[in-house]
Amino acid sequence: MKNIQNKGLETKITHSGANPDKTYGSAAPPIYQSSTFSFESADQGAARFAGQEAGYIYTRLGNPTINALEEAVATLENGCGALATASGMAAVTTVYMAFLEQGAHMVGTDSVYGPSRVVIEKEFSRFGVEYDFVDTADPEIVQQAMKPNTKMVYIETPANPTIKLTDIQACADIAHEHGAILVVDNTFMTPVLQRPFELGADVIIHSMTKALNGHTDVVAGIIIAKTEELFNKIRPVLRSMGGTMDPHQSWLVLRGLRTLGMRVEKAQENAIRLAEFLEQHPKVEWVRFPGLESHPQHDLARRQMDGPGFMISFGVVGGAAAGKTIMDNVEVPTLAVSLGGYESLIQHPASMTHAGMSKTDQEKAGISAGLVRLSVGCETAEDLETDLARCLDLI
Ligand SMILES: *Cc1c(COP(=O)(O)O)cnc(C)c1O
Repeated sequence: MKNIQNKGLETKITHSGANPDKTYGSAAPPIYQSSTFSFESADQGAARFAGQEAGYIYTRLGNPTINALEEAVATLENGCGALATASGMAAVTTVYMAFLEQGAHMVGTDSVYGPSRVVIEKEFSRFGVEYDFVDTADPEIVQQAMKPNTKMVYIETPANPTIKLTDIQACADIAHEHGAILVVDNTFMTPVLQRPFELGADVIIHSMTKALNGHTDVVAGIIIAKTEELFNKIRPVLRSMGGTMDPHQSWLVLRGLRTLGMRVEKAQENAIRLAEFLEQHPKVEWVRFPGLESHPQHDLARRQMDGPGFMISFGVVGGAAAGKTIMDNVEVPTLAVSLGGYESLIQHPASMTHAGMSKTDQEKAGISAGLVRLSVGCETAEDLETDLARCLDLI
């Protein structure tokens, strides 16, 4: 493994994660597409199971290709270890399972990724987990939601799809004061733009389906722990619940990850231009983008993020119906959910990604019927702008 600990982020993105090929020295990591690993003797098998000898046993418990990806992402987030999962939701539910038990309480961002909230309300509640989803953009509200049995504060910043920000440092302080941990879903920012461990977070999760893989061809997730202690709490849960990753999937994500820096940079550059274009357009009622001075938390954005990212939400004159006209007529962005790919994606959260929430909860969380969400990709900026301008003229 190259010594890159003190190198720049771009160098880490390029070289992080040890290459598991010790036999031939292949420059690209091999895909160890095997469910199990043979032992040289019965004693060796026993020693591996007993943890007395390093080495692989069975892919749900560990695999060299999966480990290469885990090491790479742990390095980028500066954590002590990472665990790759079959999907972003497998990462979310594994963390819930590891830290919440009957009678435990969690405080979460009200407009988190829909299923991250719904799974608590519908499934974990069946096992006696208590919860409050609140507007974490205001640390005072987080403070008031804390209870003696609160074990976890779970935030997403920027939140999806309202682009509201949460102060990571303030939430870490509140969580720790109450003996709880802070979990941050860093999917929207990636370690290129936001590093929650530096601001006090304990666990980070990513849907690698999004920007980390970035090629719209894999569903994947990852959990990164700040300390060995937290890592050792999460790993057995993942291994026994079984939401683990597949070696081929790992190889694809590692391949996508190598261009993370330049993809995020280009998408962000496009997003800045589009947000400015939308904001001055007479048919656009409002735009939410952390890079605009009109964003109510523009100062926090500058403080805790290294850039505004590539996600824009906006509302057009004429509400939901006019939003539909845009989505049905765009030619450059693809009309699809998901985000963080090399291509732009446009969608309608109230009827798509967040349709699982009740109308009242949607309204409370600021997910209005007219909100259109745009994940900006790496196309030629002018093409995106011209396309949106043409669609806005149709309403
Ligand atoms: C997509 C997403 C998830 C869930 O990830 P999957 O890979 O779809 O399971 C979680 N959090 C955020 C912010 C997401 O965008």
